[in-house]
Amino acid sequence: MTPYEIIAKKRDGHTLTTYEIHYFIREFLKGNIKDYQMTALLMAVYFRGMNFEETLALTEAYLYSGKQLDLSDIPIPKIDKHSTGGVGDKVSLILAPLAASLGLAVPMLSGRGLGHTGGTLDKLEAIPGFNVNGTLRQFKKQISKIGVAMFGQTDELVPADRMIYALRDVTATVDSIPLITASIMSKKLAEGIDGLVLDVKVGNGAVLPDQQQAEKLARNIMKVGQAFGKKVVVYLTSMEQPLGLKIGNWLEVEESIECLQGGGPDDLTELVVELTAEMLLMAGLVGKKNTARRKCRQALQDGTAFKKMLQLVRAQGGDTRLIFHPENYPMARYRKELRTASSGYLAGFDTREIGLISVALGAGRLKANDPVDHQAGIILRKKVGDRVNTGDILMEIHTNKSNILNHIKSRLKAAVKISTKPLQSPQLILKRLVS
Ligand code: URA
Repeated sequence: MTPYEIIAKKRDGHTLTTYEIHYFIREFLKGNIKDYQMTALLMAVYFRGMNFEETLALTEAYLYSGKQLDLSDIPIPKIDKHSTGGVGDKVSLILAPLAASLGLAVPMLSGRGLGHTGGTLDKLEAIPGFNVNGTLRQFKKQISKIGVAMFGQTDELVPADRMIYALRDVTATVDSIPLITASIMSKKLAEGIDGLVLDVKVGNGAVLPDQQQAEKLARNIMKVGQAFGKKVVVYLTSMEQPLGLKIGNWLEVEESIECLQGGGPDDLTELVVELTAEMLLMAGLVGKKNTARRKCRQALQDGTAFKKMLQLVRAQGGDTRLIFHPENYPMARYRKELRTASSGYLAGFDTREIGLISVALGAGRLKANDPVDHQAGIILRKKVGDRVNTGDILMEIHTNKSNILNHIKSRLKAAVKISTKPLQSPQLILKRLVS
């Protein structure tokens, strides 16, 4: 068996054996299978899919490419949350310290920007000094000490996902159910958690926009979770518009700080509270969802969650002065406003396009090893359902690239729909699925 034969087998629509999948991932990690061969296999999987046994084998191959955290001696429930990715989705930055401040252990392994969606690691690295590359020992020590750690995949922890994620990001192989399942579940299983709350995005800014496909992904992930004896609860939530108002790495840290101080936008706060409340419920720390929601809101209001965020930033080497004073962060060199040419109501965004524009402004990557610009991004001044008058500011563009501004402005204009009829903003939380 050669890599060529495995690629051809999947290309022609056949089922790979567990052995072939494990072999391919193992040899890729050793450098015996090249990036171009891996991306060919990813594209073949993208078009041909994988059945459940293949998906499980892929998840295991990722998981066993590194070590796993053993948190069994930490005597509190270990629950994590993961999202399939969206635009402006900074929930993890708020939820992780919030949940830890309420008595959970949150060992969070996250990813970088992927396609048009932002990544938690890139956002955390916008905080000067913040180090996401800890060792297994550091990770565990930090969880024991403060209840929360936010790291990335390393050579020790799911290295297969780290390397393959970077290739998928730039080869249009993100939106594949088996690839997403293996990527998410290998990271979550390596964390040594008891349970997982998963936020599967649906709508025009989601990795899988179609609700049926999103639900298929959710069920696939729940089935993998079951195979490993983990509790998984899935929320399907709307990505018909960006979450909150800020998109881009530092801008999203800034909005997370606002939310952790009780002042975040309503949609963002609602989702953070719902998902964190579910984690508390899953852990058995509260008996009722409403009690859990109340506790979450209180911890955002009274500084408890913010204090935990400071501990987290300090523990991972970040500059806490900027968490206290985000206004001191240097802004992008060019800031332009986009105004409406007509009046009416904001009827919708092409959210995926907004994500891609944010990447073009510098907030994401075009090639696997590109650096990201932490200052770049977009601030929305209006959301779906809002009244707009001619000349109102719709958005602010932040970038360090002057040469793209005019082009970006016309792309952004085309990504916003204005209607003369009033309408409601889309429902945010669509469905809850339990395994
Ligand atoms: N989040 C991940 O960690 N992996 C994916 O493939 C998509 C979202």
